[in-house]
Amino acid sequence: MSFLTGYKKMTVTRCGIMNIIGPRMAAKFEIDQDLRSLFPFINAHHDEAKYFDTPERIQFVLNDVLCTLYPFEVIAAGFYDENGVRLFWEHLQDDLNSIYDKRQTITPDYKTLVPLSPIDIYQLLPKTNCGKCGKESCLAFAAAVSKDKATPMDCPGFAEPIVQKTVYPIFDKDGNLASTVELSATTNVKVPEVPENLLTKREVDVLRLLAKGYSNPEIAQLLSISQHTVKTHVTHIYDKLGVNDRAQAAVWASRHDVV
Ligand code: SF4
Repeated sequence: MSFLTGYKKMTVTRCGIMNIIGPRMAAKFEIDQDLRSLFPFINAHHDEAKYFDTPERIQFVLNDVLCTLYPFEVIAAGFYDENGVRLFWEHLQDDLNSIYDKRQTITPDYKTLVPLSPIDIYQLLPKTNCGKCGKESCLAFAAAVSKDKATPMDCPGFAEPIVQKTVYPIFDKDGNLASTVELSATTNVKVPEVPENLLTKREVDVLRLLAKGYSNPEIAQLLSISQHTVKTHVTHIYDKLGVNDRAQAAVWASRHDVV
């Protein structure tokens, strides 16, 4: 069965950028299907994908079109005409369905990005314009970091973080993610090491999804395994971690940097 079969509504607007060929267009597709479960797989599959937490969305380029996928919406820009918009949708649908079909062979990537503006990044730099990062100025370096074209490590004087945030899940009585709590921890706090070979690779996959609030049927669907197998993995995870429920397992995963 296909993951995505169509959209509910398509809206095409002009972006206001004119060139000799014609006006550029943007499109919004509203869909019934929740795309969220596919984001970690898209993140792993598309090299240049950018996965963001708030709001949860993933951005990548497909056939020269920059698109952003939200849970129930796709925004794309850079079209010359409506035919291009329709063609793009077909490519996107094929792309997502192909990722969905291959998901058991893809290791999902849950790493998300927090976008910062060049000005925010500039505040963290020594502002000496020394050029050691390979850029002509600190401002140029800040712009490159904000576009993921450079990393903070490229500047020897980049500010050290003083706190880091950890997000803990709160589950309702049915084990569904109800909300989250964000706590600060000093970077001097050492992340406890996960004992080697404590969990199998598959158990880590299950734990990651469980900690993100997915139910057993959702985990089974995402990993292409039966619900019975998920249940067995969850029981083994509880035993190995010495925890009694999903909330405790999720907190363990968060504390040990597994999520
Ligand atoms: S290495 Fe750092 S201080 Fe030097 S120019 Fe680059 S960003 Fe500025």
